[in-house]
Amino acid sequence: MVDNKLIDVTFKKYGLRKTSFRKNLFELFHNSLNSLSAKEISLRFSTSADKVSIYRALDSFEKSGLIHKVPDKNNLLRYSLCKSECTPNQHAHDHAHFLCSVCDETFCLDDFTLPSTKSHNGFLINDLKIIMEGTCVSCKSI
Ligand SMILES: [Zn+2]
Ligand SMILES: [Zn+2]
Ligand SMILES: [Zn+2]
Repeated sequence: MVDNKLIDVTFKKYGLRKTSFRKNLFELFHNSLNSLSAKEISLRFSTSADKVSIYRALDSFEKSGLIHKVPDKNNLLRYSLCKSECTPNQHAHDHAHFLCSVCDETFCLDDFTLPSTKSHNGFLINDLKIIMEGTCVSCKSI
């Protein structure tokens, strides 16, 4: 359970409208250790929310700087909670993502900092992504 105070503070900080569904969605992200695909989320809320409100909520969570899109092995829509200080329309990420080929989960490698190169041989870099693939820690130990 996430306490109501944290929900209040977070929703206020990111300028999000509070509905009971959005509160539950935030709680789901807060309690999940890794990333969540839109598909997993819609299965979770299949009885309480329709697909449109789920996608709309995910979109506004992303725009506000609360969650960010992460790569998915099967190109599904997948999100992770932002651990860095992100603001509306300005995500401040410089971490790599790891795709596990065993469990299909995506991990944020927050301590793997991307190089801050802004150009390379005349090519201007707007967006730099590092995606690693392999076996994650928990799958490795099975
Ligand atoms: Zn972010
Ligand atoms: Zn794995
Ligand atoms: Zn990430």
